[in-house]
Amino acid sequence: MKILVINCGSSSIKYQLIDQGSGMTIVKDSVERVAELEGGHAQALRSILGGLAAHEISAVGHRVVHGGEKFSDSVLIDSSVLAAIEACVPLAPLHNPANLAGIRAAREMLPGLAQVAVFDTAFHARMPRRARAYAIDRELAEKGSIRRYGFHGTSHAMVAQRAADFLQQPLKELRLISCHLGNGASACAIEYGHSVDTSMGMTPLEGLVMGTRSGDLDPGVVLKLCRELGVDATDELLNRKSGLAGLSGLGNDLRDIESAAAQGHEGARAAINLFAHRAKKYIGAYAAVMGGIDAVIFTGGIGQNSVSMRQRILQHLDFLGLRVDDDLNRDARVSEELPVVDISTRTARVRALVVATNEELQIARETERIVAKSVRPSEPSPIPIAISARHCHLDRATMDQLFGVGSELEVYKEISQPGQFASKQKVNLIGPRDRIDEVRVLGPLRNKSQFEISRTDEYKLGVDAPIRGSGQVEGSAPITVEGPKGTVHMVEGLICARRHIHMHPDDAKNFAVKDGDEVEVGIKGGPRDLTFGDVLVRVSDKYVLEMHIDTDEANAAELSRGAAGDLVYVAPAGDVQAALRAPIGK
Ligand code: AMP
Repeated sequence: MKILVINCGSSSIKYQLIDQGSGMTIVKDSVERVAELEGGHAQALRSILGGLAAHEISAVGHRVVHGGEKFSDSVLIDSSVLAAIEACVPLAPLHNPANLAGIRAAREMLPGLAQVAVFDTAFHARMPRRARAYAIDRELAEKGSIRRYGFHGTSHAMVAQRAADFLQQPLKELRLISCHLGNGASACAIEYGHSVDTSMGMTPLEGLVMGTRSGDLDPGVVLKLCRELGVDATDELLNRKSGLAGLSGLGNDLRDIESAAAQGHEGARAAINLFAHRAKKYIGAYAAVMGGIDAVIFTGGIGQNSVSMRQRILQHLDFLGLRVDDDLNRDARVSEELPVVDISTRTARVRALVVATNEELQIARETERIVAKSVRPSEPSPIPIAISARHCHLDRATMDQLFGVGSELEVYKEISQPGQFASKQKVNLIGPRDRIDEVRVLGPLRNKSQFEISRTDEYKLGVDAPIRGSGQVEGSAPITVEGPKGTVHMVEGLICARRHIHMHPDDAKNFAVKDGDEVEVGIKGGPRDLTFGDVLVRVSDKYVLEMHIDTDEANAAELSRGAAGDLVYVAPAGDVQAALRAPIGK
């Protein structure tokens, strides 16, 4: 599939025609100073597309800087998508209008061709609230959409995947810090494949020191500058005359600054030191946010090319497990043929990787993915299946009784649903017949304690636990629970969990189901194919797509880790008997 990738910026238009299958670039060019040309972006696009007339183009992928709160994924462009991108203009007044001009011109010139918007913000759209919010008046923030969005998402997502491929580990098992250091710069904490924090905020001005942008500042500085210089001059100063350029007085190219620093230029030295210090601070912060890291990634023009900047940033980070091999660092050269180079010593606990980014190729891949999805709307995607071993959730009072007053759950490891974790704490379940020791407590604490076991466990304990949805513990079975600080006789709380699927609203839309629906999920292609009925659909924007079954159910279908199932039939919510046996998507 040949995909035209258009990056229509405020002053330039960059474009590439990419053969997505091979990853090869067929044409690559740019037009500069577009705003000064007669006819602006539209005219420039017309002549670009005219020049490409001899080439077959299957689809167009547009880079769009700001997707606001609306877009958490790339999307096929139609008039409602255009309106939604337009609505994000106040959040990116320089970028989104240019992106829109590019989209409009391409739609006009190439009618009938699928066009996809790929957002810089989408990868960060599901950051936890604590990483998203600013500590200002909540109502005001909500009204003005004032929150942290993050940018460079296309690059962070791509280099994270390249790092995982290189390390031969699934992305969903890695904690990575991606440092995209170029003219624009941002760091991103990527926990098990998801962005959980990033240094750019509501605009690309927050965070690291950049070519001409200041990055983090005391907001008091902004107030003072606004009072003294006015708003527009402050905007110009912080966006275009700060960062490496402002500090060094030599422009924004680190190569020039490094040469000047070598000759003793004070401003150049200050610029380099501040740049490295800020990046190092973010690495420390994100290691703390994720409770440890597996690798740090360097990408972007500076991250990929400046040996001394990488060295400065990584210096004295041994305590995190990062150790640089100076020779490997000096010789690291990444390219599309060799996109990842490990510059750590052999014994380092945490890898330091130089990774080539290729935002255009990533946009082309995204475009193909979205186009493929749109032409096969009725083909449901597989649902990952997680097998839950017996576990429990505790409320505050039970926690106090079992582990001591005021005790807190300690994170053992994150689990797939955002914000939830397996804790280090375990309890013992004592039934009338026998006991089961070492049952894992999942966090965070809940309003009501709940103990989830399988049918096999029931027989061992000698209890009769009803099948219940999570949280529906009223009138469930009693159980005695033993912890290190005490024993509790629960009058209710023991259940056999009802199999269910966690879905994000986007998934629910894809599958054409809603919260509370009951569906069937088929397991095909394994040694013991099986269709599970009575599967409850649970939809929340806090969920990621995953079906949860217990160990008995998994054994029945001989499933192991990494299994997936297909949604087969849907019954409308509350009317299971009158099941509408219609295939999905029809
Ligand atoms: P990007 O925005 O990712 O294209 O990065 C561009 C920036 O990378 C340039 O402005 C330079 O500051 C920096 N850069 C590129 N090559 C080198 C190099 N060999 N050494 C130091 N900095 C470099």
